[in-house]
Amino acid sequence: MDMTYDTVIVGSGIAGLSAAYRLAPDHDVLVVDRAGIGEGTSSRASGVLTAPVDYPDQPEWAAHATEFFRDLDGTGTFDWIDREYVRGVRPDDRDNAEESAAVDGIEIVDVEECGDVFDDNAPYDRALVWEDCGYCDVDDLLATLYSEASRRGVEFRPDTTVTSVRVTDGAATAVKTEYGTVEADTVVVAVGSTTRNLLADVLELPIRTFTWNVAYLDADLDDGYPMGGDPNYGAYWRGTDDEQLLVGVEHCYESEPPSEEEAFGDRLDAFIRDELGGLLAAVDAETDVVRYEVCPMADATTPDAKGIIDAPKEGPDDLVVAAGFHGAGVMAAGSIGTAIRSLATVEEAPFDLEPFRLDRFDVRGTDFEFASMFATEN
Ligand SMILES: Cc1cc2nc3c(=O)[nH]c(=O)nc-3n(C[C@H](O)[C@H](O)[C@H](O)COP(=O)(O)OP(=O)(O)OC[C@H]3O[C@@H](n4cnc5c(N)ncnc54)[C@H](O)[C@@H]3O)c2cc1C
Repeated sequence: MDMTYDTVIVGSGIAGLSAAYRLAPDHDVLVVDRAGIGEGTSSRASGVLTAPVDYPDQPEWAAHATEFFRDLDGTGTFDWIDREYVRGVRPDDRDNAEESAAVDGIEIVDVEECGDVFDDNAPYDRALVWEDCGYCDVDDLLATLYSEASRRGVEFRPDTTVTSVRVTDGAATAVKTEYGTVEADTVVVAVGSTTRNLLADVLELPIRTFTWNVAYLDADLDDGYPMGGDPNYGAYWRGTDDEQLLVGVEHCYESEPPSEEEAFGDRLDAFIRDELGGLLAAVDAETDVVRYEVCPMADATTPDAKGIIDAPKEGPDDLVVAAGFHGAGVMAAGSIGTAIRSLATVEEAPFDLEPFRLDRFDVRGTDFEFASMFATEN
């Protein structure tokens, strides 16, 4: 006999899996994904876990996210690797940087104190250093959330496409799949860049597709090489376990959906060729690019480059939406899961959910300018 679940979660990316993990102890949960579990965009992430850097206006949210990884460390195959994040500061950005450094866990230092991280001609005179950061293998993170949620009774239905959300008397009551209908008290939709399309009949959302492009460089880094990035180039980097430098660059599509040519744009190439050697001492004209990794699946973004996690009043009751995490979904896993749980159970979250509400936007369609996630930082 078919059962009614407490919660059906559509999407087994980092948002869906972290919600399943958080709800598992006391809820009957089913997770449905059109592909394999955790095999979407989340599986392509770089594993940069820098919530204090990328959510500077939400310190409680960021701390909750980081604590989650520290607690999860050693569970299943998941390891949190502690690593400082160091960002060079240009002289004309000193005021902003000093403001950022007023927060616990962030230090501002003279650039000389960063050893030989930066090139001698780099345009920085100071550097911001975040301590409470790290990185991980994202496949291990996804697999661990999957196995821990399964162990606590969450059911998973992979290879099952959800075609619509059923609304009865103003409330979401089920999802329709290609193999039949699944009833639930609460429906969570966490399908990344396809969220807008899936919900088109019940709720309009300001979500667009975009992506990151990534390359690995043979930079022969020292053990413990700090993570970093430069907002001027929409770029981040980190060392890998085999001493390569992983470099990622924000890549905003101009059209929707992007043409193939656009998706495989050369902005990353230009950054590595023309700029990176002038920023980092470890990179010069001789440094080989070992491989490029152009993510074939899109990520999603919103008008302010921050996710939507909400049970929006303008949508049906009992519907929770979580999408649009730009380049900062994996690092926020612990908080996204807690936020979804609190909306599904009407418990109070241990942080403010206001910054993630849909009604912060005036726009609802896809007709909005891309905002870099780096532009919202200071
Ligand atoms: C190259 C790259 C590097 C990145 N690096 C980082 C990083 O280092 N740190 C970080 O924090 N973030 C990073 N990000 C961003 C991060 O990957 C995203 O913010 C995050 O993965 C989004 O997760 P999600 O669960 O919202 O969506 P997704 O991972 O896209 O999950 C959505 C799921 O829904 C499923 N689905 C879609 N439609 C349906 C349907 N109709 N029915 C059923 N299932 C459906 C998909 O199969 C998929 O599994 C990176 C992104 C990219 C592209």
